[in-house]
Amino acid sequence: RASSTDLPASPAKDIENVVIIGSGPAGYTAAIYAARANLKPLVFEGYQVGGVPGGQLMTTTEVENFPGFPDGITGPDLMDRMRRQAERWGAELFQEDVEFIDVKSSPFTVQSSERKVKCHSIIYATGATAKKLSLPREEEFWSRGISACAICDGASPLFKGQVLAVVGGGDTATEEALYLTKYARHVHLLVRRDQLKASKAMQDRVYNNPNVTVHFNTETLDVVSNTKGQMSGVLVRKVDTGEESVLEAKGLFYGIGHSPNSQLLEGQVKLDSSGYVLVEEGSARTSVEGVFAAGDVQDHEWRQAVTAAGSGCIAALSVERYLASKD
Ligand code: FAD
Repeated sequence: RASSTDLPASPAKDIENVVIIGSGPAGYTAAIYAARANLKPLVFEGYQVGGVPGGQLMTTTEVENFPGFPDGITGPDLMDRMRRQAERWGAELFQEDVEFIDVKSSPFTVQSSERKVKCHSIIYATGATAKKLSLPREEEFWSRGISACAICDGASPLFKGQVLAVVGGGDTATEEALYLTKYARHVHLLVRRDQLKASKAMQDRVYNNPNVTVHFNTETLDVVSNTKGQMSGVLVRKVDTGEESVLEAKGLFYGIGHSPNSQLLEGQVKLDSSGYVLVEEGSARTSVEGVFAAGDVQDHEWRQAVTAAGSGCIAALSVERYLASKD
């Protein structure tokens, strides 16, 4: 993390209305609303996801559930449209990662490797990252058999009607497994421990669903492919006996949780025990006045593009009200 003294601060007269951090659906939607409200937002787009702005959807192909695109749209195309809409209304975009934030005193400081900005308010929309297993063939099959989002991908032709596997034993994994039974022929839940961590209610639903088989003491080692290069199974090992086998499956869904990208706010803004930014219910307000959070960094439950965009809208409208109340 860079020190706040590395770069000269902007002159006092140049205190920005609002700085938006993040270029996923939450950040760009906040930028569109803030720009249309004439707040002249600065957006630090970052490039942490795949080295380009646009957030998590840059790593996917078809997005079939974003309203307004009845035939679907690719993730990069959707994000390019949001970006252009933000620019069209006058948002100023910097393709830089923010390295330091100080919200202990107002005006706040936001600093990247290139510039240091003072501002009256911040919209923090840095998203979350799905935890991965680092399997040997993970990158090769990411979005081609391996996924971290059943709601996003479960109905895709790649997985519909197929035998699938879900890895994990908590609420996320059990929810993914149950959701996938709507489309899959059968779902295997691969659990490393000898019991489920999920809530009792979720456990009951899993055990009562004939389309889910739970495999305890089962470690996921890798995915295997057929001669056409398509994913065809999961290589697993029994933790108790060490025995390895291949379980037939056309898809592997990770249900091992997400890590919110909230590191820059640690110690300054209240986070929950998993690191998600805490916001007042139904709002984007954090524990620090003038700091707002939107999208997956504050949402461990829904994690969808449209909910992220909605919360970005709420954050920008909240900033508008907040600044007006300060005048
Ligand atoms: P993100 O999209 O994660 O964007 C966060 C942004 O913050 C990124 O641009 C990142 O570079 C930036 N950032 C992080 N740290 C910094 C920093 N220090 N400085 C500057 N910038 C920073 N949802 C759907 O609704 N439908 C789908 O079909 C769908 N498919 C998906 C497929 C995949 C493979 C994945 C991974 C997710 C999918 N999702 C889908 C979920 C959806 O992508 C997320 O819910 C959504 O992108 C969250 O938006 P966000 O703006 O909160 O964060």
